[in-house]
Amino acid sequence: MDTICTQLVYAPDRDVLVQNERILQSLENELAKTREQSEIYALNHAQGDDVRLSDSTAGLLTYAKSAAQTTGGAFNPTLGLVMDAWGFSATPHVPDPAVLSDLLVQSDYEEITVSGQTANIGATNLDLGGIAKGYALDRIATNLEDQKIESALISLGGSIYAKGKKPDGSAYLIGLRDPAGTANDYFATLMVDGNFISTSGIYERGFTQDGTYYHHIIDPKTGYPVQNNLLSVSVVCASGIDSDIYSTALFVMGLKDGLIFAEAAGLDAVFVTNEKKVYTTDHFAKSFGFTITNEAYRHENA
Ligand code: AMP
Ligand code: MG
Repeated sequence: MDTICTQLVYAPDRDVLVQNERILQSLENELAKTREQSEIYALNHAQGDDVRLSDSTAGLLTYAKSAAQTTGGAFNPTLGLVMDAWGFSATPHVPDPAVLSDLLVQSDYEEITVSGQTANIGATNLDLGGIAKGYALDRIATNLEDQKIESALISLGGSIYAKGKKPDGSAYLIGLRDPAGTANDYFATLMVDGNFISTSGIYERGFTQDGTYYHHIIDPKTGYPVQNNLLSVSVVCASGIDSDIYSTALFVMGLKDGLIFAEAAGLDAVFVTNEKKVYTTDHFAKSFGFTITNEAYRHENA
């Protein structure tokens, strides 16, 4: 998944670690759009034909489409061609605006149809980078449950799952990355137990061209990186897939609309602006022992 995965599992032996790694490997084989054997590769090269999928990938695609609808297209799993044009993971560069607007036409998630295990994505092209890590964490969480593991901390790029307490009885304390700092800096902490937390931030992937920084969270209306005053959005959920979807979607919606959406949907979310202002949904502010630890950041009333 082109990111770093770490696992901490309290268990009698290493078996669970190996199982979890296999789960990630098999998901990579099913979902990576650059792997010729993957189901997503097959869909992206089907040229409008039906493709037969595994049950799990058919379910994932159905879920992705409905998330796109629920978020009014802020989360859009069909930005594959647009992402390729930016070349974030290959040769990053600003695409030709005319090319970009053509590609946007091929980013209509309504073209996705799934019936049983048969799917068709029309002229679109999938990029599941905004959902795959959370989905993978859900699968790992299920394995931890099956294996009766009571304490674990799994991190997959910007998504984390914490289960149970540490052996000394204390809760897992998660640092929320300081979007203006390095990978080891955090601006706030929270305690998570049995929940997933995903962060979408401009620092995850990007490049600078002619003095302008271009990041990887795309505004589906323009095809360009989202330009608002946000640096990151984190969402805590009981499901990994939802925390991943909504962190991306709320970032795209922006502070004002994102907060309104999050409150209406009952999401626990925190928004960080380029002025180091921190906004949370009401419930989040009182939950998870949320504490701002970096004095440069200020919690503002929404
Ligand atoms: P995340 O780090 O979860 O916010 O996801 C960002 C990744 O999702 C990008 O690297 C792209 O692969 C993909 N992506 C970018 N913009 C969007 C969007 N508006 N909706 C869905 N996925 C997106
Ligand atoms: Mg996401």
